[in-house]
Amino acid sequence: MTPQPSDQSGFPAQQQEPPGLTEPMTPEPDHGERSYVGSGKLTGRRALITGGDSGIGRAVAIAFAREGADVAISYLPDEQTDAETTERWVSEAGRRCVLVPGDITDESTARQTVRTAASELGGLDVLVNNAGFQMARRKSIADITSDDLDQVFKTNLYALFWITQEALEHMDSGGAIINNSSIQAYEPSNTLLDYAATKAAINNFTVNLAAEVGERGIRVNAVAPGPIWTPLQPATQYEEKIERFGGDTPLGRAGQPAEVAPAFVFLASQVTASYVSGTVLGVTGGKPVF
Ligand code: NAD
Ligand code: MG
Repeated sequence: MTPQPSDQSGFPAQQQEPPGLTEPMTPEPDHGERSYVGSGKLTGRRALITGGDSGIGRAVAIAFAREGADVAISYLPDEQTDAETTERWVSEAGRRCVLVPGDITDESTARQTVRTAASELGGLDVLVNNAGFQMARRKSIADITSDDLDQVFKTNLYALFWITQEALEHMDSGGAIINNSSIQAYEPSNTLLDYAATKAAINNFTVNLAAEVGERGIRVNAVAPGPIWTPLQPATQYEEKIERFGGDTPLGRAGQPAEVAPAFVFLASQVTASYVSGTVLGVTGGKPVF
């Protein structure tokens, strides 16, 4: 169903603890289960999607599978139920879904995640660095502890480096890497000082790595979503923020994961994006990404 502005600006107040799950959310997000129609844009491709259990990652897994790709999804062990739901949708599309649980803030786990995905899928053509963490329940830079910094920087940046290094060992010409950035790279919120900095770094990394691996025929791009209704939000925002979530965008509402996934399909596909590399595609409900 196409989301309507009138029913999507803000959500009922609700809170979860990280990492957050899909089922307790009101309303449940739309991952394109009933709407996404594939047209062979990723036939035979093999993709690793980190954080593919829920939110944007689940919508990407469903869209990739309906475009003909086999996928591996990584996630935290506490998210097993969400991962199994994604697996069911991928299987219904007639594609394989390899489940790779593990905490990617640990280097050996992050590297092993890629090795498992590549060996189970028989290779790797597409990497979606989608896993990410933020904590917005704080008021000032003074509230950010070293443990907070470790979690945000290790999830959003260290793991991205480790997983990308390992994935490049398996990728050939035609391969594609897509990083999940954020509007926070351009319009940072002061409650997300550390997270916003990682997203700006991801944009810089995207352009720089694209220059390095271009000669191998590998493309590197990013998607910068605006406010999207996923478990990350009730798990990391104050309840009252949820009631206004997305209302400050030009379109006046939050987006659904299903509205972000097509940008990943576009960038992953050699049919649609064979000459697109080193760019950041905004899916922000109208907020500028420059
Ligand atoms: P989500 O909670 O559904 O997905 C994030 C996933 O990251 C989790 O499901 C989890 O599996 C994974 N993850 C987090 N820490 C991990 C760890 N230590 N080890 C392994 N996996 C870990 O939320 P989402 O909003 O779909 O987030 C996906 C990406 O989108 C993130 O990079 C986020 O920064 C980005 N993003 C989200 C929004 C938004 O408004 N929801 C906006 C811009 C960017
Ligand atoms: Mg999750």
